[in-house]
Amino acid sequence: MSAKKCDVVIVGAGFAGMYLLHRMRKLGFSTRVFETGTDVGGTWYWNRYPGARCDVESMQYSYSFSEELQQEWNWSEVFSAQPEILEYAGHVADRFDLRRDIDFNTTVTSAHYDEGTSRWDVTTDKGESLSAQYVVMATGCISTAQTPDFKGLDDYKGAVYHTGNWPHEKVDFTGQRVAVIGTGSSGIQAIPVIAEQAGHVTVFQRTPNYSLPAQNAPMTEDYARSWKDEYPNLREQMRQTAKGALGEFSDVMGLEASQAERATEYERRWALGGTALLGSFRDMMVNRDVNETAAEFVRDKIRDIVHDPKVADKLVAKDYPIGTKRICVDSGYFETFNRNNVALVDINETPIENLTANGLATSTEEFEFDAIVFATGFDAMTGTLFKVDIEGQGGARLRDKWDAGPRTYFGLMSEAFPNMFMVTGPGSPSVLTNMMVSIEQHVDWITDCLVHMRDNGLATIAPELQAQDDWVEHVNEVAHGTLFPLAASWYMGANIAGKPRIFMPYIGGAGSYREICDKVVADGYDGFSFEPASAQATAAE
Ligand code: NAP
Repeated sequence: MSAKKCDVVIVGAGFAGMYLLHRMRKLGFSTRVFETGTDVGGTWYWNRYPGARCDVESMQYSYSFSEELQQEWNWSEVFSAQPEILEYAGHVADRFDLRRDIDFNTTVTSAHYDEGTSRWDVTTDKGESLSAQYVVMATGCISTAQTPDFKGLDDYKGAVYHTGNWPHEKVDFTGQRVAVIGTGSSGIQAIPVIAEQAGHVTVFQRTPNYSLPAQNAPMTEDYARSWKDEYPNLREQMRQTAKGALGEFSDVMGLEASQAERATEYERRWALGGTALLGSFRDMMVNRDVNETAAEFVRDKIRDIVHDPKVADKLVAKDYPIGTKRICVDSGYFETFNRNNVALVDINETPIENLTANGLATSTEEFEFDAIVFATGFDAMTGTLFKVDIEGQGGARLRDKWDAGPRTYFGLMSEAFPNMFMVTGPGSPSVLTNMMVSIEQHVDWITDCLVHMRDNGLATIAPELQAQDDWVEHVNEVAHGTLFPLAASWYMGANIAGKPRIFMPYIGGAGSYREICDKVVADGYDGFSFEPASAQATAAE
């Protein structure tokens, strides 16, 4: 029996997969979406840990493709919490009747390119096989949770959680002794909320993080109105910015300001909240001296907030520039260490040696816990792509091709994998921007490309090797002109043992990246090669 056929298979029903489905359907492409979860929402479906919240303002972290949608939806807070964002995803699915083309609870296990038919053979864990002209990996950048391989992991008998894969039923920590391992964005958001409920929380910190207060507030009607009345214009402005978001980004160079002026500016932006502080000076992420003034300002804030100077000192990041590991945004994180039911363990001083039946042991102490929360991050940007057995031309495996780090043309496609697209793949601005803006840009680029191919009788598209090599080199060059590579961050793959250390996202900014992508199209898809449908049919005969 021959496999079922469709034009497009989309892997993932997060914000990227949902918008893709909506557009493909409107354009008349037969489309199937496969999603491991039981509902839409992607990252907001999985990351439902206590305190999970977006650090891009909701008026900006939302779809722009439908004026009706952006007018009708009301956010209750400036920075929305996970349940409301998930509710929004559900609303979008209802509104555009998306779920009928999504197979939930279904994981794509392999995608093999058949050079005879120039189509992808896709299989799922439900045993289904499907032949598709195009495959779009809308699998998210931060979607493969990683639990470190601690000795004795299986010996521990208490409850185990991972922030990136949180249970759907309510978790009650009341009265419990809880360990939280990891102090990235997820840990920093979860710890204050868990500490309010638990009997005692012990935080295991490997690297102290810089975190800025969200200064979150209820949404006011006036503020929402100021966006809704101007949405088309403001969304267009957002698309042109480096971050894909409107905010205060100064053009002043940091050392042109006096010390007093810098202090005033940092203070003002700390009060403004969110990531505003990083926009204080234009050269914040390229000039170490300027960066150090902001880093020191934040360190002083931490020392002011945390009563015990020894604890404060442990919480202060000293070894890398601010912003080079993804900046965290918190609600009461440092204040939490003033509670008498919270303790901090610096595992650089006293490493975790192993988990035990009742807890864990560091080099100096044994701890007992009712629950351990891993807030230990993700195999970012490539981990989820590698979970699918992807084979391109000549049986080339994606995993092998990217052995020394991801190689893409614009983070959209990779040489030897014709007709396979990625949404916000490595080599695109993705995680350095407001993801909604980058997702919409990629989805629009991909769908426009498919229409172009249909209109021109083209069967396949793939990047040329030289064009891809040039792009990879450019991505690296731009990254190394900044301070970012100075931190052992997940942007660099540094959180996963054995992962190549390559700065994965494109740091050139969402606005200029969009211009580059548009120009490539205007220049006849420069750097891509197409095969016409007729040539492909002849080859198959
Ligand atoms: P993360 O930033 O990678 O943080 C993981 C934490 O676990 C780090 O503190 C890391 O320490 C620690 N860790 C990892 N392996 C360890 C080990 N073997 N032993 C001890 N500690 C270990 O992960 P995340 O907090 O889940 O955040 C990931 C990304 O998701 C964020 O950067 C952000 O882009 C996104 N996110 C966004 C939001 C938001 O919008 N507010 C919220 C959550 C997540 P080291 O630093 O030493 O590696």
